[in-house]
Amino acid sequence: MSKNADLHARRLAATPRGVGVLGDFFVERAENSLVWDVEGRRFIDFAAGIAVLNTGHRHPKVTAAVKAQLDAFSHTCYQVVPYEGYVRLAETLNEIVPITGPKKTAFFTTGAEAVENAVKVARAATGRSGIIAFSGAFHGRTLMGMALTGKVNPYKIGFGPMPADVYHAPFPIPMHGVTVADSIKALHTLFKADVDPKRVAAIILEPVQGEGGFYVAPTEFLVELRKICDEHGILLIADEIQTGFARTGKTFAMDHHGVKADLITMAKSLAGGFPLSALTGRAELMDAAAPGGLGGTYAGSPMAVAAALAVLDVIKEEKLNERAERLGAALKERLNSLKASVPQIADVRGLGFMVAVEFNKAGSHEPDADFAKKVQTEAMKRGLILLTCGVYSNVIRFLAPLTIEDAVFAEALDILDAAIKA
Ligand code: PMP
Repeated sequence: MSKNADLHARRLAATPRGVGVLGDFFVERAENSLVWDVEGRRFIDFAAGIAVLNTGHRHPKVTAAVKAQLDAFSHTCYQVVPYEGYVRLAETLNEIVPITGPKKTAFFTTGAEAVENAVKVARAATGRSGIIAFSGAFHGRTLMGMALTGKVNPYKIGFGPMPADVYHAPFPIPMHGVTVADSIKALHTLFKADVDPKRVAAIILEPVQGEGGFYVAPTEFLVELRKICDEHGILLIADEIQTGFARTGKTFAMDHHGVKADLITMAKSLAGGFPLSALTGRAELMDAAAPGGLGGTYAGSPMAVAAALAVLDVIKEEKLNERAERLGAALKERLNSLKASVPQIADVRGLGFMVAVEFNKAGSHEPDADFAKKVQTEAMKRGLILLTCGVYSNVIRFLAPLTIEDAVFAEALDILDAAIKA
């Protein structure tokens, strides 16, 4: 039995099927945009640990910062013995996050935890309990994250009942028949039929839906949401966990719109591969929770904080926002050039290097999940790791490191081309 096959068999016997795994190979090492498996096969990583590695695997600056931190101390629990890095990273995020006025930041470990705490803060600050999210949204696998998530299969199956006072409105996706006007109308219907807007603490949305299919929220939609929030005293939470840190060609996707949120959740590429999430918000909101109400044993781990400080330097030094725009434009151009010969390509879209291609059955509006799965499988056979997404699982999303070498990027585009044509 091969090394991979042996590990695969052990995995199936020792771990639950609920932890779904894409690859049938196990990693041995990784560098920037490349991964090698335990049998020495090389893969180009266009998944980047699900949007975690905008600065690539083991960026030398991130690795050096973590090594230095490890030599000093690795854990005290910030709430017991604090350290400067936590405060410095909070100061840095408070400066760059698109929220108006004085800000404060708290750190956690996972994206779902940042979302949970955004809800806690919104409830404590407003004294209200209702939360509105959108269909197709993904906000995590914890109980509240799952309740906010707008996709049943597989995230909610068998896990109910969901926490109370969570509502969903349709996210505007014109290609699926939902316009911005439809979404806004549905929100008003929600206020009439289900929940008094004066009882709603927050509306949470991803400025570009991630797991839901890389649908970009139109500026006019965000402007309208902001207006509705201001009218009713509702807080606007932008979940930038997948969109943040230069992925969309700006530090945050909200930077594209000039619309300010009240609270922003971050995780994934914040710390270049180390578990760290953040919640930044208007200072008076962030101070609503009583001392001890926020935090966690590992929240804001010194090593992850050191990594994040290095990541923010790398984004600036290597001009990753500009690079995201350039890489995204090249990828979209290649995908668009395939449209004439591949009738299944229904849409090519994205902001910066947060790009996706959506497949429908040829000549119809019917989502073609099988086609997306086939492209993914063919790409994997050729050494390119791709992720699918979408409520109908008919979308391939591209999340390669923004630091990918030009030659590797060109090689990946050729593999993608071959996989789609296959
Ligand atoms: N929000 C968004 C927008 C996400 O993309 C994700 C992860 N895919 C989460 C929340 C949850 O993050 P985590 O898996 O780190 O809990």
